Amino acid sequence: MIHLKSQEELQMLRRSGRILSLVMRKVSRIVRPGIATADIDRLAEKLILDQKASPAFKGYKGFPATACISVNEEIVHGIPGPRVLLEGDIVSIDLGVNYQGYFSDAAITLAVGKIEGSSKKLIDTAKEALDIGIHQASPGNNLGDISRGIQDFVEGRGFSVVRQFVGHGIGKALHEEPEVPNFGQAHCGPELKSGMVLAIEPMINIGGWECRITDNGWTAVTSDGSYSAHFEHTVAITDKGPEILTK
Ligand code: MG
Repeated sequence: MIHLKSQEELQMLRRSGRILSLVMRKVSRIVRPGIATADIDRLAEKLILDQKASPAFKGYKGFPATACISVNEEIVHGIPGPRVLLEGDIVSIDLGVNYQGYFSDAAITLAVGKIEGSSKKLIDTAKEALDIGIHQASPGNNLGDISRGIQDFVEGRGFSVVRQFVGHGIGKALHEEPEVPNFGQAHCGPELKSGMVLAIEPMINIGGWECRITDNGWTAVTSDGSYSAHFEHTVAITDKGPEILTK
């Protein structure tokens, strides 16, 4: 069942999303060569708690940190730790906020210092793919229009779309129905309706889409070692079109 949010619920989700976007903005500013991923995580946690909210990922199915921080060939669910970011790395920061029982979810991929042209093109494509997906998130479209829009754009740039992880509905739970794949068929899947709230999150790779999970049981990496980028927003579908709650 896809739960359509009431105006009151939407208002709470907006607050949750606003906290997340503020935290993401501040956390992004400290990313530079020489910083450890644990430092980013620590700041994110402090900023979320300062807003009287709580980190949505910490403890979720046993995840040990506030942020998922995934570097280079890591796709998603990287665990922050002593790893120091180096010039030329790309780093994805994925954050979830629980504000009074209302969840928001967003991710961004950033360059660490100066990066290679292929890495820059990857990041730009992932960011634009998210915009394209969001653009399709209007009443009357189908879920598959989001999926197809993202896939066509990404593959047209010569990159691949991760299959094993997908976006999701979000609201009073971090993960709700429906799943929001970044690949699929236009005009297929559930019809989009005002009141749906979706976490749209393209994950794309320079090489193949195949991935594996590392020994920590969490972190997904590309099978071929190619770099991966990830962008995500929590988006409400309204009669006026898509409303980005984590902007
Ligand atoms: Mg998500």
